[in-house]
Amino acid sequence: MRGKAAQALGDGSKTPFPPSAGGRRAGRGEDVAGIRPLVAGNWKMNGLGDALAELGALRERLAKSPVPEADIMVCPPATLLSRARAALAGTTLTLGAQDCHPLPSGAHTGDISAEMLADAGAAAVIVGHSERRTDHGETDALVRAKAEAAHRAKLAAIICVGETEAQRGDGATLEVVRRQLEGSVPDKARAANTVIAYEPVWAIGTGLTPTPADVAEVHGFIRGELGRLLGSAEASRFRILYGGSVKPANASELLFVPDVNGALVGGASLKASDFYAILSAYSGRDAR
Ligand code: PEP
Repeated sequence: MRGKAAQALGDGSKTPFPPSAGGRRAGRGEDVAGIRPLVAGNWKMNGLGDALAELGALRERLAKSPVPEADIMVCPPATLLSRARAALAGTTLTLGAQDCHPLPSGAHTGDISAEMLADAGAAAVIVGHSERRTDHGETDALVRAKAEAAHRAKLAAIICVGETEAQRGDGATLEVVRRQLEGSVPDKARAANTVIAYEPVWAIGTGLTPTPADVAEVHGFIRGELGRLLGSAEASRFRILYGGSVKPANASELLFVPDVNGALVGGASLKASDFYAILSAYSGRDAR
């Protein structure tokens, strides 16, 4: 990540993730609209202080063999944000957080606001992850309020959508995704402050993945729906990430599918070697 995005570490920059290549020739992984890919690692509720060693290892690998083709983000638990900021200082990696409260402050014991996450060093926050939707009964309306909170705090919102196994079995995938986008994406969302992550629930943590053709269908559909909601010019600049069991072994297959502009990576982001191997797909290197 360069320029403004690198400066976004903790400074609440207005455009944390300029998604377009800005006139450069499209690199590997950039699509015809010149959208620069983003690969974000979602650590979920994993990692104590010693996990920061993985950030050090990732930093070292990237220093030796950079992956300039993609923006790279790590989303550790909130308890590690400040220390992760220190561990990544001087690099182009950015930090993301996982979930936020819709309000900036107040009597909400145990919750964390988007402003607090920005203050701790985050440039983005994941909202609407299926684990939040399931474990905490989060509705589309709440996800949308959280995305608006992210924008208020000058964070990018990474809004997750995706169908369950039963919904896919019923042929309802596109309908579910349409409803989630309509309910969760703020009217004022822009490509510069919002990323969509398509994460089929049945693919998360299971080792299962949709076929590239299925991924292409849903991503193309998402871009079309964003066009309907926000206008096609804006939609053409949006980053749409694929998430769900992305691993070093399948990264090359999934990351170059049309309308896939990067990945949200869970389990495989916890180990620097696996995360780096996924990133390396953009450089055409096999780092497995
Ligand atoms: C996720 O939960 O965001 C995710 C993509 O998990 P995994 O890569 O482990 O399937």
